[in-house]
Amino acid sequence: MLGKHEKLWKLYDLDPKIGLRSFRLNFIRRLEYDVGKYKRNTKNSDIYQALALTIRDTLINRWNEVQESYRLKKTKRIYYISMEFLVGTLLESNLVNIGMREIATGALIDFGYDLEMIAKEEHDAALGNGGLGRLAACFLESMATLDLPSQGCGIRYEYGIFHQQIQDGYQKEAPDNWLSHENPWEISRLDLSYPVHFYGHLKDKVSLDGSSKWIWVPGETVIAQAYDMLVPGFNTRTVTNLRLWKAKSGEEFNFDYFNHGDYLRAVEDKEKSENITKVLYPNDNILQGKELRLKQEYLLVSATLQDAMRTFLEEEGTCWERFPERVFFQLNDTHPTLAIPECMRLLIDRHGLQWEEAWSITTQCFGYTNHTIMPEALETWSIDLFGWILPRHLEIIYAINYNFLEGLRKRGVSEDVIKRLSIVEESTPKKIRMAHLAIVGSKKVNGVARIHTELIKKKLFPEFHSIFSHKFENKTNGITYRRWLLTANQRMSEVITRRIGNKWYSDLSKISKLEEFSADPSFQREWMITRKENKVRLATVIQSKCDVTVDPNSMFDVHVKRIHEYKRQHLNALRLIHDYYNIKENPSLDYTPRTVIFAGKAAPGYYLAKLIIKLIHSIADVINNDKQIGDRLKVVFLPDYRVSLAELIFPAADLSEQISTAGTEASGTGNMKFMLNGALTIGTMDGANIEIYEEVGDHNIFIFGKTIEELEELKRAGYFPTGIYESNPMVRTVLDEIMTGKFYGGKKDLFKDIFLSLTKGGDPYFLLADFESYLSIQEKVAIEFKDKFNWNRRAIINMARSGRFSADRTVQEYAKEIWEISPVRQKEPRIKAV
Ligand SMILES: *Cc1c(COP(=O)(O)O)cnc(C)c1O
Repeated sequence: MLGKHEKLWKLYDLDPKIGLRSFRLNFIRRLEYDVGKYKRNTKNSDIYQALALTIRDTLINRWNEVQESYRLKKTKRIYYISMEFLVGTLLESNLVNIGMREIATGALIDFGYDLEMIAKEEHDAALGNGGLGRLAACFLESMATLDLPSQGCGIRYEYGIFHQQIQDGYQKEAPDNWLSHENPWEISRLDLSYPVHFYGHLKDKVSLDGSSKWIWVPGETVIAQAYDMLVPGFNTRTVTNLRLWKAKSGEEFNFDYFNHGDYLRAVEDKEKSENITKVLYPNDNILQGKELRLKQEYLLVSATLQDAMRTFLEEEGTCWERFPERVFFQLNDTHPTLAIPECMRLLIDRHGLQWEEAWSITTQCFGYTNHTIMPEALETWSIDLFGWILPRHLEIIYAINYNFLEGLRKRGVSEDVIKRLSIVEESTPKKIRMAHLAIVGSKKVNGVARIHTELIKKKLFPEFHSIFSHKFENKTNGITYRRWLLTANQRMSEVITRRIGNKWYSDLSKISKLEEFSADPSFQREWMITRKENKVRLATVIQSKCDVTVDPNSMFDVHVKRIHEYKRQHLNALRLIHDYYNIKENPSLDYTPRTVIFAGKAAPGYYLAKLIIKLIHSIADVINNDKQIGDRLKVVFLPDYRVSLAELIFPAADLSEQISTAGTEASGTGNMKFMLNGALTIGTMDGANIEIYEEVGDHNIFIFGKTIEELEELKRAGYFPTGIYESNPMVRTVLDEIMTGKFYGGKKDLFKDIFLSLTKGGDPYFLLADFESYLSIQEKVAIEFKDKFNWNRRAIINMARSGRFSADRTVQEYAKEIWEISPVRQKEPRIKAV
């Protein structure tokens, strides 16, 4: 058991021989003194708590050491600001990263426990919706692994993304009260709190020298209080932190009310200000312009900027011109864009800088990552709401815009173009365009896959691109394989390591050596045994969650992600109806057995997405209960898609469904997790699918559907989905089925709105345009799945060529080309005895 990673352990304080003993000792202490239990009367959850706290000790030790070294070396620091961090569970990935998985396993065995069982006690930290939040979590882990002085900055929502329950095929939302289970990973930092102001008005103050400036007299002040979650890098002593801000009432109680004897009102007001960080908005790629959301965004950036400036002042005093050498703020989408006017406000109003100086500093310190080009997701705020909540920032934004537009006018830019570039949209009501503010105020702007960056330059912001072409860059997304392979698919990792050694553990590009074994029958055998184990494990989950028995030998055809029209889960659903009728009409059809697995949450207010969930359930109901279909086709919907469930799904998938309308999915990262775990992709030429295609080549991926150019051509020529419906009998049969046929879900006209959206509604995501192409490529998949040897060979090639999609590669590109920051490697301590 012990000994395999001896070299690794030596990096970490302790000789492996004494490592186990001291680990055990620490663990017992935690169990007894922190959890308050001893050997008897302990539950699995107590063991989990004690184990997590034991690990946390190591993390705190190292984090303090790391922070001290940054202070002494005066390093530049990266602040990765994001409204979402979809962290998931931490026990196992932290153990893997600090090289203590085996010690912990050994220590638990001595106590009669199994690590995998204990790990199940942990609840996901689900402070995000989907890809954007998960990306932030992957980046944090990579930044630590690459020894970059950095931290994540987010909000400590009391309620994370809702839990999805399915009742009668419908999604029901239940609150995710994740903090009601003790969170052993977080450290509350009562010493770090900052006032954050809202509302009020501006007052003109004239100084003795005659100069005048605006003073913001706020109407409400709340306190942002810091909590840290520590994130260890892999195979390094570097630990970074995710700093999460919680809103606390500014004054313990409002004494005015007290004096009037209104005790309850005083308590109520306290509650109200603490509401700001109560709940994560559950929308993915849709804007919901609510007052509370704007307050959340401002709280995050104001606290983060004040915190960064405090650190800077401690280390540099008031040499503000050095600020850009010491800090860089990366904005994960426009949600934290208020950081730009907030930086200006703090430099001018609090630290007394002049406008020009403050602007020159600010514009060197920010990078903006765009995540979508879909209009419904682009963030804008009406001037009225904005000015009411943040009057001073509205003034600052007007001034930024004035200077920007005047500069353009001097360069002879036409008023027509100026109108389109303005940060203020001249609509009724007028609106602030957050993306424009982010572009004007940032040093760099990036998209998240090559095609997406091209679309940003050519379609979304062509005028900005022609003015600021030097600002625009691509940074194709990546994922941390430490979580998505080493932790989630431990057995497969061991199978790989037996063939190619463990160099790939610290550099995913080295996994390319695996390609030599792709056609090696003995390797394929081991590979298949492991995949079968993973599929059996998932089949057990399906049995218990969906009450459907599935065959682990069937193809696991997997479509998991947020439910969205642009992601086209309903295209997959139409395919299932087609296949069902195909088997019914040809009862002896040689149909390659499939288990089609869906999972994903719909935004609670997204009517059509929720209806798609119901449609999938109705289809599953019919298909799974039809004796004639038998084991050839099963359809399941796993409820409550989240990181910990995803970790069970990816290692068991044969086919990865990435079928968004070309030009809509910015990058996708689920596609990368599938590839890394040995699934073949069926997908459109969209987002990072294109780059996966380029890595693996035509033979190792199933591409279908219209390209962006072809869709544009179609739009130009006039797209008439009703025409397809009327002229194509197959499309007609399938669509009629969801209107009137077997899949009616127990209620007439239940799915009418899906039908209408695909026909008279203009089929905005081109399902009908791509339907036949999708069916025929699925047929190809079915035939080729039967040739096990070649399927496996191609799946192994996919794994071997996944190196480019490591978040390490992505973060290294950010570090070099945007952040201009170098690694700071911590010295390895001398091995010491306890
Ligand atoms: C990776 C991941 C996503 C993003 O998936 P896409 O297929 O890229 O949309 C969403 N949710 C969870 C839980 C994930 O792990």
